[in-house]
Amino acid sequence: MESESNRQSSIVNRNLKQLVVLGAGESGVGTALLGKEKGYNVFVSDKGTISQKYKEVLLNNEIQFEEGGHTESKLFEAEIIMKSPGIPDTVPLIIKLKEHGIPVISEIEFASNYTDGCIVGITGSNGKTTTTMLINHLLKKGDLNVGMGGNIGISFAQQVAQEKFDIHVLEISSFQLDGIINFRPHIAIITNITPDHLDRYNYNFENYINSKFLITRNQTENDFLIYDFDDEVITNWLNKNKVKAILLPFSLKNELTQGAFLRNNEIVLKYKTEETIMSISTLALKGNHNTKNAMAAAMTASLLRVRKDTIRESLEDFEGAEHRLESVLKINGVQYINDSKATNVNATFYALDSMQTPTVWIVGGVDKGNDYLELMPLVREKVKAIVCLGLDNQKIVQTFCNVIDLIVETAGAEEAVKVAYKIAEKGDTVLLSPACASFDLFDNYEDRGNKFKQAVREL
Ligand code: ADP
Repeated sequence: MESESNRQSSIVNRNLKQLVVLGAGESGVGTALLGKEKGYNVFVSDKGTISQKYKEVLLNNEIQFEEGGHTESKLFEAEIIMKSPGIPDTVPLIIKLKEHGIPVISEIEFASNYTDGCIVGITGSNGKTTTTMLINHLLKKGDLNVGMGGNIGISFAQQVAQEKFDIHVLEISSFQLDGIINFRPHIAIITNITPDHLDRYNYNFENYINSKFLITRNQTENDFLIYDFDDEVITNWLNKNKVKAILLPFSLKNELTQGAFLRNNEIVLKYKTEETIMSISTLALKGNHNTKNAMAAAMTASLLRVRKDTIRESLEDFEGAEHRLESVLKINGVQYINDSKATNVNATFYALDSMQTPTVWIVGGVDKGNDYLELMPLVREKVKAIVCLGLDNQKIVQTFCNVIDLIVETAGAEEAVKVAYKIAEKGDTVLLSPACASFDLFDNYEDRGNKFKQAVREL
């Protein structure tokens, strides 16, 4: 027989829509706040411990929550479940909930239902944060009412709950895209696609590629898809699949009929019959990869009617994001650069590519199945010594020992910086660009970058 309390809760269910939020991080708590504001009965459930900061937000807003495990019966009462991006689709509980016919969606799907603001969505394997910040900067300088969110800063859902922006610029991971149904950005950007996070995609690169392209699935003929034309993974997919959005590629190698490309060392933006030209030498962010990011950002700003001069000026005065090819200090004529966010080979490729002087390269950490051979031509050309910074450096040493005379193994940022300092000579660069995750020796990439910078400042 049904108990009194069960009957009570089912009466509550009939009156209020039930939203269950799995995971109480930035996107989960943001969704909970938005859900509450929109009249849902919200329950937040986290398998681990909820941080004090988020617990306070939930308590202050009288949102029910649990931590240290999930009460399954409560989860199955949900009409809708928002799953945080850190939880894989393959965990048995998620499979079971889906089998029960309960929609399991991501934060961007939930939040986008409650805004009629224009959405600019940026995805890709590398360059998401940089491009998102750059676009935000360009649009703000163009006096547009814009909010930046997604994987950066305050969650998109919280912004929708508490602010009223005309434009949302969102950094979007493939995990967020996996949980969409109707999410439709007006402008979508795919910066590039290289193998990453394959553990979450059944070790199948195709799955990961398809996931990135979900960003354009609901776009219409009035929307835009901006992408890297030089990236064969992207162009191959586009050759095989139909996309409704207007395609605006960018390229460093080819002149295009529509999109952004290089001509005489200048960036040309071309849409319909309009052509905008901007200098490449005055861009604040250096390196080929950043020229591509600038192309994507300038194209977006131009579509959103920011004045050409404002776009030019803003590309010049943009201050780059921390831990991404960040200049730290010049000591005795040696430039120290922190690129701790380079957690895969592709990001490091572009870092080495943009080096203009002989480089002492600090590399290593937790390798996600790296193929270092891709870096060989650049290492031959630019690197004078390698300082390994990781617990297991065998693969790096083996790959490069025949090419680089001096390879030193270290197990801490301070030691690595001291060794690099001894090796580097006036005019050289010391570059931390690890091509690996940081979890063997550091809390995360920020911790690694901060410790590197501190060690440089203490030299
Ligand atoms: P994400 O948010 O996708 O991780 P970031 O902007 O944080 O991207 O940059 C991550 C790393 O990739 C940094 O080392 C950065 O210098 C490098 N990077 C930035 N833009 C690109 C790009 N377009 N292609 C390849 N690497 C890039």
